[in-house]
Amino acid sequence: MLIVQKYGGTSVGGLDRIESVAGRVAKAKRDGNSLVVVVSAMSGETNKLVGYAQHFSKTPAKREMDMLLSSGERVTAALLSIALQEMGIDAVGMTGRQAGILTDINHTYARIESIDTTTIKRELDSGKVVVVAGFQGINTTGQVTTLGRGGSDLSAVAIAGALDADVCEIYSDVDGIYTTDPRIEPKAKKMDFISYDEMLELASLGAKVLQNRSVELAKKLSVKIVAKSSFSDAEGTVISKESEEMEEVLVSGIALDKNQARVTLREVMDRPGIAAEIFTSLADEQINVDMIIQNASTDGTTNLGFTIPSSELERAREVIANFSHDYGAVDYDEGVCKVSVVGVGMKSHSGVAAKAFSILAKNNINIEMISTSEIKVSMIIDEKYGELAVRTLHSVYDLDS
Ligand code: ADP
Ligand code: ASP
Ligand code: MG
Repeated sequence: MLIVQKYGGTSVGGLDRIESVAGRVAKAKRDGNSLVVVVSAMSGETNKLVGYAQHFSKTPAKREMDMLLSSGERVTAALLSIALQEMGIDAVGMTGRQAGILTDINHTYARIESIDTTTIKRELDSGKVVVVAGFQGINTTGQVTTLGRGGSDLSAVAIAGALDADVCEIYSDVDGIYTTDPRIEPKAKKMDFISYDEMLELASLGAKVLQNRSVELAKKLSVKIVAKSSFSDAEGTVISKESEEMEEVLVSGIALDKNQARVTLREVMDRPGIAAEIFTSLADEQINVDMIIQNASTDGTTNLGFTIPSSELERAREVIANFSHDYGAVDYDEGVCKVSVVGVGMKSHSGVAAKAFSILAKNNINIEMISTSEIKVSMIIDEKYGELAVRTLHSVYDLDS
């Protein structure tokens, strides 16, 4: 089999952990498989590098951030290759560039445009294990780019798709996808299967066990993902196309996203073009706006509220400072979070949202904003009730084991 394995930060978090990963890789290789191994930076490393940059600047140049952050993965790729060689396994480490990963020009949040697999294939054909530094690529002008936080998952899926690999195994410190983050609710259950669409919602709504873009790409390229633990030999969760059995499950999981902030512009003129200007300027800065609420207008003015990731708050402040229309005031609230209920079964059942609202009300948790789609209900609430809301919802939809 041709297998792409990806090991996340905790799995390569120290020299002993890298040694143990090398052992797993060596075993899979000796079992007769062809292997590409994608690695993350050692856990905490990327954050440490971000901290270094922030020592000098609150808004460091994105090009330099890519130079800086891409180095973490490079260290791990080299170390794992050395460890493998020492075990008698022929291995070669590569940066994103050497692996042929071509991206668009967006520094710090680049998209993979194509992968030139010539070098990887040549090394695989000569019997080597190819170890690729995740989270990075190169753009058309030759600059190093990175793929957004958690982006090594995306590197792995993209390589698996380009090589038409049999499977893409994503190793972390949990042995699969659970009905909610097991750190928040120890009663969470591991799923054997989950559909791409549900996984995409969970990941986009805060379950950082997989990067959302990687799931989106896996769906597009039909890459079969198996989420597993690098600390055990447990079975893992298969992420694949929806099946009929999956549709019978009403709610498959609950997600919590604490990286949320709410911006409220008060007394904005209620005129055509205002929303267009504000949201275009935010989009131009690559700030992802999620929920939007505009109140009914009184005296020709209105309140416009929206949520963004809190990590983008600084840049949003700059955009709003340049807003050309009059408004009364602006509030920034970082004390909110988003809790979401996800399940493909909602497509064919009603009452799922009502049940969520009722149980939160019963627990005196006020819902500040709501958004729904065919397969999810998301609610913005006070951050201090986030974990309580997760556990309450987990229990009300009978997900507790
Ligand atoms: P890595 O560093 O290997 O990429 P991450 O820390 O990104 O790993 O992802 C693994 C973590 O995701 C787990 O430790 C777990 O706390 C968290 N997590 C959040 N939601 C879920 C979920 N629904 N199922 C499993 N893990 C989850
Ligand atoms: N090291 C990067 C991060 O921490 C990418 C990754 O681990 O996937 O976001
Ligand atoms: Mg991750």
